[in-house]
Amino acid sequence: MTNLITVSVRCPNCRQSLMNPGKRIDDLPSIAFQAKVADKIGQIYLSQIYGSYHKLFEGVEDIADAVIECSCPHCHTPFPVSRVCDCKAPVISINLQIGGTINVCTRNGCKHHSAEFENLDDAFMLFQNQDETRYS
Ligand SMILES: [Zn+2]
Ligand SMILES: [Zn+2]
Repeated sequence: MTNLITVSVRCPNCRQSLMNPGKRIDDLPSIAFQAKVADKIGQIYLSQIYGSYHKLFEGVEDIADAVIECSCPHCHTPFPVSRVCDCKAPVISINLQIGGTINVCTRNGCKHHSAEFENLDDAFMLFQNQDETRYS
């Protein structure tokens, strides 16, 4: 397993941890965002395993192809948008504590998210190859 990355994600604004040990996805603490979908505000919990697209919605509907406005669950600051995905939705970028950035497309169901790590599982080479633009 080379795609098992134990991450520690913090809000770029208030520096509080976004990891949520109470909501486990793929048997690990999830990454929690405040999510706004179709004018409702709730939470979204993402798997911290790169390449896993398991996620949980709480208080918002899991609407296919909806663009989710993601912000910090603590300070409610929207996460920085680094670029626009091929699907035309904003891609948010969050720096990890230890060398790396995760980029997540905000369109529900879009698999074009990436992590700036090496040693990616072969299964994700496809996504890596699609990801021509690198940010630091
Ligand atoms: Zn914050
Ligand atoms: Zn996308």
